[in-house]
Amino acid sequence: MKKVVKFGGSSLASTRQFKKAGEIVRSDKTRRYVVPSAPGKRNDKDEKVTDMLYACYDAASAGTAYKKLLNRIKDRYLEIIDGLGLNLNLDYEFDRIEENFVKGAGRDYAASRGEYLNGLVMASYLGYEFIDAAEVIFFDALGNFESDTTNKELSERLAHVERAVIPGFYGSRHDGTIKTFSRGGSDVTGSIVAKAIHADVYENWTDVSGFLVADPRIVDNPQVIETITYKELRELAYMGASVLHEDAIFPVRKEGIPINIRNTNKPEDKGTLIVESTLRKPRYTITGIAGKKGFCAINIEKAMMNTEVGFGRKVLGVFEKFGISFEHMPSGIDTMTIMVHQDEFEEYEQSVIAGIHRAVEPDSVDLESDLALVAVVGRGMKATRGTAGRIFSALAHARINVKMIDQGSSELNIIIGVKNVDFEAAIKAIYDIFVTAELQVL
Ligand code: ASP
Repeated sequence: MKKVVKFGGSSLASTRQFKKAGEIVRSDKTRRYVVPSAPGKRNDKDEKVTDMLYACYDAASAGTAYKKLLNRIKDRYLEIIDGLGLNLNLDYEFDRIEENFVKGAGRDYAASRGEYLNGLVMASYLGYEFIDAAEVIFFDALGNFESDTTNKELSERLAHVERAVIPGFYGSRHDGTIKTFSRGGSDVTGSIVAKAIHADVYENWTDVSGFLVADPRIVDNPQVIETITYKELRELAYMGASVLHEDAIFPVRKEGIPINIRNTNKPEDKGTLIVESTLRKPRYTITGIAGKKGFCAINIEKAMMNTEVGFGRKVLGVFEKFGISFEHMPSGIDTMTIMVHQDEFEEYEQSVIAGIHRAVEPDSVDLESDLALVAVVGRGMKATRGTAGRIFSALAHARINVKMIDQGSSELNIIIGVKNVDFEAAIKAIYDIFVTAELQVL
């Protein structure tokens, strides 16, 4: 059994957090490869080391004052090193970093130092070998991640290393320059390492006990999702639920390696298991609810629209011309509605309306603003009758008017359009009818 464990920034923000992470690694001999993030926030008002590094680099490369900020970054690491009682001195590393900042080594280089230094600290604390991600994770000249070269190099390297720390978030181009993934990218590194060593599981340790059925800012104390498939996750993530970097699922998904989201502050919780497919029944009919505000609808009416071949294509062509992507397209016999992001649409509002008139000569085009979309997602819905009925009666009881309904052909999701002002109430009502009500029966 081999596990890759990735710790997020909040799990490594202070000595106290580092100790928790160390205990987690030591408590299970199969946790052999560790991927750390840079130290994150210790409290709401704190700063992430990554953000401090960006700011420090911008100042240093522009020739303005940066030393104070650099010292504050040093202090973050010193606090951890001293607190852990390590015999580790980062002076040499910081001198090199400062030199490179002044020389203008690039923002990616700057940001990556957060993980690099934290990797050195973690390796020293655990007594694991340190492997610089720049030596094993590769990007092409344009900055695209090179999956095959990386996988080959990394698996060969790790085949001879029993236990190692590989810092998250970055790698290198072939000319040696550093390149990072997008923000939150240590999740991606963890997944790449898990693939390379054929891990049994990729544990992603963070500060929540997994994916929640609904947003905790809307529903009080929502339940944790025990098992979720990659497809369900994608649906929920697209609608705004986020715990994991979007690209983190691809490397492990191809290998059928599950991801386990765990809570560093509550290691006894099982967290959420993300899998390719499963026979495990979801605890409730639905797996999760997510949603977004800020959509608008363009309603187009034309008598006998249904007889006009190519009508839809011509209408969508107008949106395409202005680079506006559409989210949903419910239609009736003589009506068609396009739902788009309001902020993308507003800029071209009148041009789009004129474009539609020119393209299809409709009887009328009218707009409706301030709409929200709510996605109810769950593999369990396919086998269950009455799910849609329950959703709509819950919304009716909460006095919410449903503007649009769309059930994907996979029966994995039902999307509901409501007014922005009804958004929170809609999510609460759906949560209650499925989770709160089903919990009472269980
Ligand atoms: N430290 C980086 C960030 O703040 C990457 C990560 O934490 O995954 O985005």
